[in-house]
Amino acid sequence: MLVTMLKMLLIALVVVIVPLLLSGCQAAARAPVTGKYAIVLHGGAGVLSKTAPPQDVAAYEAALTAALKKGQDFLASGGTALDAVELVVRQFEDDPLFNAGKGAVFTAQGTHELDSSIMNGATLACGAVAGVTTVKNPISLARRVMEQTHHVLLASAGAEQFATEQSVERVPNSYFDTDRRRKSWEEWKKEQSSNAPPAPGYAYGTVGCVALDTHGNLAAGTSTGGMTGKRWGRMGDSPIVGAGTYANNESCAISCTGTGEEFIRHGVAKTISDRMLLAGESLREASDHVVFKTLKPDDGGLIGVSRTGEMVAPYNSEGMFRGMADSNGRFEIGIWDTVKNIKP
Ligand code: ASP
Repeated sequence: MLVTMLKMLLIALVVVIVPLLLSGCQAAARAPVTGKYAIVLHGGAGVLSKTAPPQDVAAYEAALTAALKKGQDFLASGGTALDAVELVVRQFEDDPLFNAGKGAVFTAQGTHELDSSIMNGATLACGAVAGVTTVKNPISLARRVMEQTHHVLLASAGAEQFATEQSVERVPNSYFDTDRRRKSWEEWKKEQSSNAPPAPGYAYGTVGCVALDTHGNLAAGTSTGGMTGKRWGRMGDSPIVGAGTYANNESCAISCTGTGEEFIRHGVAKTISDRMLLAGESLREASDHVVFKTLKPDDGGLIGVSRTGEMVAPYNSEGMFRGMADSNGRFEIGIWDTVKNIKP
């Protein structure tokens, strides 16, 4: 009798108590890291030539610094990662320097079709819009898709209809025009037919932001006009959750920029999260592997922040407009291989 009871106790220990203890340890290891913040942003992997006029370089540096400072201040005052991402991406969308919102590149037909996505790492909720033509801030419409529908991605006419229902700010398609992008389009038209794949270097200034907030939550967002000369209806990685954007409180938040087709093919953003969760890699190891081993030279780059506040911005192009700041006092921006440390 005593032996049977001892046996049953042993079985209970193995079957119930040990797994419970183990899962308790795991939960403790994954508890949110609160009290510190980190933010990384990008303004695209197709950068200025190193011989660009100093005033052009200064304009980009000023825009990156201002957006980073805005996101940092917001997080430092306890704002959420999700709101910070939307705030920063909206600022870039309103800035004609970047290929998102005002300043978006031209399609083959000489119009603008915008893509965007956003993801909440705390819940895995996500929303995206693709091929929108009259929405001033596509990132905010993507957020509405996430919060006001049961869907993840709305495209073209359906997304426009949703924008009307949600009363978000609308503009005529010509609002997105800028002389610089028109010039790139004219050059593109001279160089190739619309059937040819877009040449690297024609994608300037897609924008993205990833953030860890003081509550321990991660978020990511991306917004783009795509690539100059893209075919009607072409969508890149930016509105594809798991390719151009991903956030999961258990691992990291990622936003990508570059040749979208490659980022979709390799499911870049989620692959980085998977490598961290399944292979135990750090954010740096996982993102370096994908950018330097999986992708080809000149495909682009990405930004990431981990659940512990590690920040990365690897790229395999000539440069990438970027910036990162955290609660340890780091604040830096970069375009090519050197970064400028700034005390704002
Ligand atoms: N990834 C974007 C796209 O393929 C372009 C870019 O990042 O510049 O639409």
